[in-house]
Parts: sequence; structure tokens; C-alpha cells
Amino acid sequence: MTGIKAMNKTGWNFDNSYARLPQLFYSKLNPTPVRSPELIILNDSLAESLGLNVQALKSEDGAKVLAGNRIPEGALPLAQAYAGHQFGHFTMLGDGRALLLGEQINPRGERFDIQLKGAGKTPFSRRGDGRAVIGPMLREYIISEAMHALGIPTTRSLAVAGTGEPVIRETEQPGAILTRVAASHLRIGTFQFVSKWGSAQDLATLADYTLQRHFPEIGADENRYLHLLQEVIKRQAELIAKWQLVGFIHGVMNTDNMALSGETIDYGPCAFMDAYDPATVFSSIDVQGRYAYGNQPYIAAWNLARFAETLLPLLNDDEAQAVKMAEDAISNFSELYHHNWLAGMRAKLGMFDEEPEDETLIEDLLGMMQKHRADYTNTFRALTFDKPEETALYGTSDFTQWLEKWRARLDRQEQPKASSHQLMRSSNPAWIPRNHRVEEALEAAEEQGDYSVMEKLLQVLSSPFEHSPEHAEYCTAPAPSTRPYRTFCGT
Ligand code: AMP
Ligand code: MG
Repeated sequence: MTGIKAMNKTGWNFDNSYARLPQLFYSKLNPTPVRSPELIILNDSLAESLGLNVQALKSEDGAKVLAGNRIPEGALPLAQAYAGHQFGHFTMLGDGRALLLGEQINPRGERFDIQLKGAGKTPFSRRGDGRAVIGPMLREYIISEAMHALGIPTTRSLAVAGTGEPVIRETEQPGAILTRVAASHLRIGTFQFVSKWGSAQDLATLADYTLQRHFPEIGADENRYLHLLQEVIKRQAELIAKWQLVGFIHGVMNTDNMALSGETIDYGPCAFMDAYDPATVFSSIDVQGRYAYGNQPYIAAWNLARFAETLLPLLNDDEAQAVKMAEDAISNFSELYHHNWLAGMRAKLGMFDEEPEDETLIEDLLGMMQKHRADYTNTFRALTFDKPEETALYGTSDFTQWLEKWRARLDRQEQPKASSHQLMRSSNPAWIPRNHRVEEALEAAEEQGDYSVMEKLLQVLSSPFEHSPEHAEYCTAPAPSTRPYRTFCGT
């Protein structure tokens, strides 16, 4: 017993339930070793919560594991097959540069996928090189951890390791591998893949696996697939509302980038909105604005309809009946989403109870913010601290009238002002990963090998609701620029 423990001093405790699914679902293969594995950043607290030993991960052996040169004990690496609608077009996809090492069971018995992103070519790589570069992997690390701290369900980042190998993008860049931790990597696209290329039995197997893994409370009765659809819809309605409430723009909401667990997944061209505008798009390739901030709820509903389609054969033997059940479930999304969004907006404005005019009050504020290009985060922060003079709206008669209405609204509720302030403090972040701050951190890391800027940023972002005055400079919106901020998929 002690012998086994000594051999696995890192604390790996893998189970490989995905590898027990039908072979069609994946392709077993090991990561491609890299020239010189080097640990760049490790998420100590996440490692600990996974039951992993931080010192062991920071050792030479640890770096080898995190760069794919050594397979940890009990792991069974595989690339998952999936398909997806990319910008509306159906394509066969799959892990083209990621490998699932296995599922780590933490000391509390919880199961997490451990995936290496950038670990080399797989049968799903198409024309890609199977690799990732340092900037975008650090960017995923920063933004996913910020999302977690904001209380938004997300995959997380355990580590970034350098490979010591150049990777060709627009320019030659240092290669890196991100260790991604997820409740699972089951996506809408996983169902699309099995629905198109698997048997009816494969589809039922995948649905039962998803139920077991994410919705164990749903009983094994004959309605379980409808409940699966309803619960996935419910979680997405919660997730997308949370994105909208903090101004997060995913940027590439293809159906393969929507996780059934309800976690945010695949941090590519994502970014946070500064000035409020529903048409905001950062992604350089999203020329039509399909994935603009204001479109996200509609796109989520569209993606969920694609999920529902894959489930039709499981919902009912009678096709018309099945379609009716799916349509009813999908039509609930907008109401569920709206309910979550409205509840979140009420909290952002310090409201505990509900009044019929609340939505108009909220829409009026957003309308003024759009008109005056007011910073989304900072406007709510200024209201939280009762400093309307710090908003771009201040001095306009519309805003003066709005403030009067809002204050009267808060006066009518039974909770005291102090409670409203507390509710607003915990609903309105002081800081988000501002694009200029993220760029600054990445530039220092990439160009000077200076990771201190990123570490400071990560530390500040880890407590977005603390509102501590010493980090006030992280609240500053970027200086107005003639060139809009652009993000790139070429990761
Ligand atoms: P994403 O835009 O990250 O969701 O990726 C879309 C698809 O392209 C997925 O199947 C990825 O695995 C694949 N892919 C992205 N980058 C690469 C790469 N460098 N090499 C191989 N496959 C890739
Ligand atoms: Mg993806």
C-alpha cells in the first residue's frame, strides 16, 4: 500500500469512464512528447482541491506530465469525437489538439476531466498542427479563472506548460499546453456526432452516460431523456444570463463549444464588454456579428434546438410526438433565460422584491448606457457606491429622472439601504479581466518573460466583489481608441 502511494506521490486518482464507452466515441492515443517541458504557471489552489500535490506538480516529473511527455499513473489518454455547427454550418470535428488524460476523482469523490490542450495531432486534427501557443493559453487561464471567481460555471485551468518548441501561426511563437479541468467535455456536438454516425443504442448510451454524470438526480424512468433536455436547457439559461450580467462575450458559440454540464467552455476570441452596446463583437472572424453580445441568448436557443434534434429518437417512438416534446422544451428557454436575467439585474440594482415597472427601469438604464457609451461594469459600480457623478450619464436630464425613480423604487421596499448596498456589492464586480489589462499581462509574459504582471492580475481578479480601494487602477476602462479591440481564433 505505501509502495503504491510512494509511486504516485502527485495524487493522481484516475477513473476512465469515457474510455469504457463505445469505441466510436473516441480515439485512444498518447500526447506527442515535446522538446523541453517547462512549467509556466500552476494553479495551486485548484491542484489542492483536486487532491494533487503542488510540490510534485512543480517538480521535473510534474512538468513532464503537464507537457504530455509522461503519462500519469492510471491515465488512459484519448481524443474525443464530436461534430458541430460552426457559424451555422455542420462539420465533423473532434479533439484536434486536445487529449483527455482521464477523470480525476478528488478527495470528496467528485469527478473532473483532466485534459491537455495543445498535446499534439490526433485523428481529428484535419489540417491543424495539434499545438497551441503561449499567449492564447495564458489568456484562457486568466479569463477562465476570472469567470470562476465571478461565480460563473466554467472549465478551469490547472497549468500552462511550455514545450520548448516553436509553433507557426501568423508568426513563429513559443508552444504551450494548457491543462484544462472540466466537469466533463460532453458537448452538444458530442450528441450531434453520435446522432449522425452512431446507432440508436449508441445514442441511448451517450444520453444515459450524460445523465449519470451530470444529472444523477434524474431517475431512470422512461421520461429521463426529456428531463435531460429540460435540465440542459435550464443550465444554459442560467449560464447565458450570468454571461450577460457581467458583459462576457464568448465569441464563438458553435454547438461544439457548448458544454452539457452548463460550464463555459472554449476560451478563444472571448472578451468582456467595456462600453455597453448589444452589438459588441470582438472576434475578428465574426464579421456578421452572429455571436455579438446581444445575440448570445438567441444563439444559445438555436444551439439547444440542435441538441433537441439529436434526442428526438429517444423522446418518443412517434416522431410527431417527439418533435412536439422537443419544441415545448425549447420554447421554455427564453422564459427561463429572461427570468434569470431579470433576477440578476434586480440584484445589480439593489432590488429585493419585484415590481411590474422594474424591467422598464432596467431597460431605460441600459438604453442610456448605450446612447452615451457608458462603461457597463463601472456604471453599475458607481451606482453601488452611490456615486452617479462617476458615470458617463451624469448631468443628463434623463439620468437625473432615472435616478429619482430608482431611489424611490428602493425606498418602497422594506429592506434598508444598507442591505441594498450589500446586495449590489456582491452582484456588481469591481473588476473584470479588462482587455487592455489582459493584453498588458500577456505582453510582459511573452516579450520579457515577466510573469509578475499576470500574477498580480490573477490575484486581483480572484476577488472581484471585494471592492478593495488599493486595486482601484484595475477598474479603469481603456482609453478611447480609434481601432476597436479584436480577438483572434488563430490559437
Ligand atoms: P475551437 O475553435 O477551439 O473550438 O476548435 C474547433 C476545432 O478545431 C476543434 O475540433 C479543435 O480541436 C480544432 N483545432 C483548433 N486548433 C487546432 C490545431 N492547432 N490543430 C488541430 N486541431 C485544431
Ligand atoms: Mg472548441
